[in-house]
Amino acid sequence: MHFFIDVILPIPLYRLFTYQISEAEFQYIKQGMRVAVPFGKRKVYAALVYKKHESPPKAYQAKEIDSILDQSPIVTECQLMHWQWIASYYMCTLGEVFRNAVPAAFLLESQTLVRLNTNTAVSPNSLTDNEFQIYEALQSQSVLSITQVMDILDKKRVLPIVHKMVNSGLLQLQEKINEQYKPKLVRYVRLHKQYNTEKALQNLLKTLSGAPKQRQLLMTLFMLQAKSEKTITVNELLQQSKVTASVFKTLVDKKVLIAYQLQEDRLSYQGKTIKSSPLSEAQEKALKSILKAFQQTDVCLLHGVTSSGKTEIYVKLIERCLASGKQVLYLLPEIALTTQLVVRLNKHFGNNAAIYHSKYSINERVEVWNNVLYQKEKARLVIGVRSAVNLPFSDLGLVIIDESHETSYKQFDPAPRYQARDTAIYLAKLHSAKVLLGSATPSIESYYNTNNGKYGLVSLTERYTKVLMPDIELVNLAEKYKKKRMRGHFSDRLVEEINMALNAKKQVILFQNRRGYAPVVECTSCGHCPQCPNCDVSLNYHQFKNQLRCHYCGYAMAMYQSCTVCTSTQLNTKGLGTQQIEAEVKLLFEQAKIGRMDFDSTRGKYGYQKIISAFSNQELDILVGTQMLTKGLDFRHVHLVGVLNADSLINHPDFRAQERAYQLLQQVAGRSGRHTEQGKVIIQTYNPNHQIFRQVVDNNYLGMYQSQLKERDKYGYPPYFRIIRISLKQKDYNIINQAADWLANGLKATFHKNVLGPAFPPVPRIRNQYIKQLLIKIPKNQSLLKTKETVESLKKRFEAIPQYRKIKLTVDVDCY
Ligand code: ADP
Ligand code: ZN
Ligand code: ZN
Repeated sequence: MHFFIDVILPIPLYRLFTYQISEAEFQYIKQGMRVAVPFGKRKVYAALVYKKHESPPKAYQAKEIDSILDQSPIVTECQLMHWQWIASYYMCTLGEVFRNAVPAAFLLESQTLVRLNTNTAVSPNSLTDNEFQIYEALQSQSVLSITQVMDILDKKRVLPIVHKMVNSGLLQLQEKINEQYKPKLVRYVRLHKQYNTEKALQNLLKTLSGAPKQRQLLMTLFMLQAKSEKTITVNELLQQSKVTASVFKTLVDKKVLIAYQLQEDRLSYQGKTIKSSPLSEAQEKALKSILKAFQQTDVCLLHGVTSSGKTEIYVKLIERCLASGKQVLYLLPEIALTTQLVVRLNKHFGNNAAIYHSKYSINERVEVWNNVLYQKEKARLVIGVRSAVNLPFSDLGLVIIDESHETSYKQFDPAPRYQARDTAIYLAKLHSAKVLLGSATPSIESYYNTNNGKYGLVSLTERYTKVLMPDIELVNLAEKYKKKRMRGHFSDRLVEEINMALNAKKQVILFQNRRGYAPVVECTSCGHCPQCPNCDVSLNYHQFKNQLRCHYCGYAMAMYQSCTVCTSTQLNTKGLGTQQIEAEVKLLFEQAKIGRMDFDSTRGKYGYQKIISAFSNQELDILVGTQMLTKGLDFRHVHLVGVLNADSLINHPDFRAQERAYQLLQQVAGRSGRHTEQGKVIIQTYNPNHQIFRQVVDNNYLGMYQSQLKERDKYGYPPYFRIIRISLKQKDYNIINQAADWLANGLKATFHKNVLGPAFPPVPRIRNQYIKQLLIKIPKNQSLLKTKETVESLKKRFEAIPQYRKIKLTVDVDCY
């Protein structure tokens, strides 16, 4: 009798692979455990056990596994079902889902290591230069990784050299698996049991009378123990007693003190928890309607205007779900931007809440994973970004998707290119859990689903304090320029309103849809505009460092003194970025304290927090920023929001551009007048009659929805058609064109006019790679499954063509 397992390898191969195991291993191994397996020539991977069985593979001889890595499954059966759905819906492999879903620490990488073969005698004279360099390095270091060899030889292709040296018996290969996860251990200290009696203690202190430092340490320990019930850490003791670690060690060696280690959770919440607030009448009504909707459908959309108090409603729903003993997943677009919200939720749910964050370390991710897996109290509520849908929930009762319209819920790269909103809805289905989508500006797709009865719909139309929605005013830039009513990029109306707000000690937010100073530099005599050498885009000017930089590949160079083409020194900066606005604001409002929030000013783990809390605490009067300002921030004292130039929002060749412009403007407007007094919004534009801007002014979501829906219907876009984008990437211009045409012909043979392209995207070359794209539109009456099968088989044929081998082909389902 033979025993086998099928495993998922964390690589983009379609099949599962079969390995042989012993009977004892067969008894021990469970689905969802990891095993180390050999793969390819000299590789070892941590693979995930998918299935146990007794039938050998037909096409190849099954290898044996290396070792079993887990004592119990780290992935649940439900997760595997979920992964299967993700792989098939988003057209990628289970291996890619596995790689993306688990914390990196679970993916042991095989790092090939080489060492000298001590059984072979070598005469260094017979070695080539490269071989000698490796040999020499191995005199001072016992092992080298392939990467280190690359560094030593300063070249990439070192495998043939290493290979030759292995063949001639000079080197040995060694595979090493490194468990990366190290729990954080904390050292604690206590007195040895033998001194538990008063008498023993007296004696001990007597014997230590000649050692004042040791006595001092003991006395400090007693003092600390008397002060609190807690166990005392070694650190704390040393700090308080002000003696050296060697004194401590002496007492440990004498067995007076016992030092021991405990695993500490990195993420624990220390503060006090508070009760949730009573709901307003409108909130109460909305809550009831949501609960009622949940009796009919599993998904409900809460469409509540900005500052209507959606969060408090979520809190009530979470409380109910936790009380029933089930887990809750609260999804957010980006945690860094929503610190305020995390603090609010932490206050209610304290240590029941765990946070899963893109900026967390590997260790922190493993901790949350395990807490969810073992259903620990401290992870009953998981607050997380997109990737939190991958956690090993076992008894999920509720999923909340906050700011559900946000595009950052979609993963672009790498595969799986999944939409976390939709993926969470499927996850909830597997758990028979309910889903609440919340937004002031729902996506057209979500709202459409409430219209056709798929989702329930609950609307909240008033702000929590009943304060009126902000008064939005459009300012016509063309007219203002003509009448000379502009100061820099500020119209007289905007300046006036800013002054009024500042005089009333209120705060101002200024929004500009671009980062950097003036995005491009142009020579005024010949028109030359410096381009990135690696990408087909103009370089952006960054005033702060006086640099030209590429936003796509990071290329940077010092700003030119004169034009490289005609040597003229008349260089002009064109365009309007946040840095330039900040500079103008400083000149116009000398007394005001000004902050800037954009990609450049918020680097680092606490970059956002610092600016957000400075603005919250009114240390700043005016905040200039980009998109980041729009994301659910709740500032009490903002009266005015100014949008410097709204036109760049609508001038995009993208079917979602108008929807997004509406969302962005409503959201940024929603930061004003949230609590006591009606807010004011000034939007500067050259197109004051544009339909979208009118709809923003009227707070007319339904109008926007209906007019956009008509467009989508007319041109065949979601929600009426599904779309799949295929992208090709390659260095060679001719080959990529050929390949794109080949693919387009193949697709058009089946899908005819529902194939758009091939076309270059707005930035046709990034990092020296050309990009070409095709779009497949899938009408409602066409089988999605069949369509994907057709695409899949065409893709396989494509990949089998030798001259297209080097092309990177990606498929993006429901692309943005
Ligand atoms: P939204 O998410 O809908 O934009 P928030 O949930 O941020 O709105 O609520 C807006 C403000 O109103 C917040 O400062 C919040 O603390 C306050 N608020 C909302 N509901 C209540 C309530 N029931 N009790 C007290 N304060 C509330
Ligand atoms: Zn020039
Ligand atoms: Zn570039």
